Amino acid sequence: MINIIPIPAFKDNYIWLLVNSINHHCIIVDPGDALPVIDVIKQHNLILDAILITHHHNDHSGGIKQLIELYPVPVYGPAQEHITGVDHLLHEHDEIYFENLAMKFLIFDIPGHTKGHIAFYSTGMLFCGDTLFSAGCGRLFEGTAEQMFHSLSKITSLPTDTLIYCAHEYTLSNLRFAQCVEPNNIHINEAIALANQLGEQNLPTLPSVLYKELLMNPFLRCHADSVINSVNHHNGEQLSDPVNIFQALRTWKDTF
Ligand code: ZN
Ligand code: FE
Repeated sequence: MINIIPIPAFKDNYIWLLVNSINHHCIIVDPGDALPVIDVIKQHNLILDAILITHHHNDHSGGIKQLIELYPVPVYGPAQEHITGVDHLLHEHDEIYFENLAMKFLIFDIPGHTKGHIAFYSTGMLFCGDTLFSAGCGRLFEGTAEQMFHSLSKITSLPTDTLIYCAHEYTLSNLRFAQCVEPNNIHINEAIALANQLGEQNLPTLPSVLYKELLMNPFLRCHADSVINSVNHHNGEQLSDPVNIFQALRTWKDTF
């Protein structure tokens, strides 16, 4: 039985902790900070087996050094990024297996936010770092719109009941932008009501699930007439190619 628990870090990061509730072995994804992870490990007497890293940004990798000093475990990360402490370099389609959790992960290259960004996919769940957020997507710091669009397409081709474990609690502010893009999308209005409810109780809005994102995330809806018309109205243009719509949408969101 695997429990997946968000450990809040910094202002709005989540470090995802995967725990086998029977034997207490665990792995963590994107420890930007070591202390909150160490607290949880000690509090629940967990045995850390590995660290997974999606990309090089410090809010995802800054805790590695301190963690491996305490727990000398393998650290898996993207082969195409230089991250201090990562000692298992991963490429697209690699598979890694964690015996104590009986979990296998398949690696996807999902460049765009950073050049070498990867995702970890296990049946029913995806750890996608800063690539897909609920109702939004990561900023294009190192990659092109075309790369990011293609990366998101890889994610949308997964089974629609896949749970999406994003690395930031950006849902409500993303939804406000989504609502501006598609004011008549009822799924967005419902998601705002739910996110408000969860926020009032200080609960995470994550994980999301792919089928919900397909209905409300404008960055996954660049084929929809409502999104195309809205982007063109905003920019006074007549774009139709989904990649161009995606790029215009990302630029719009950057200054929203
Ligand atoms: Zn990042
Ligand atoms: Fe981040």
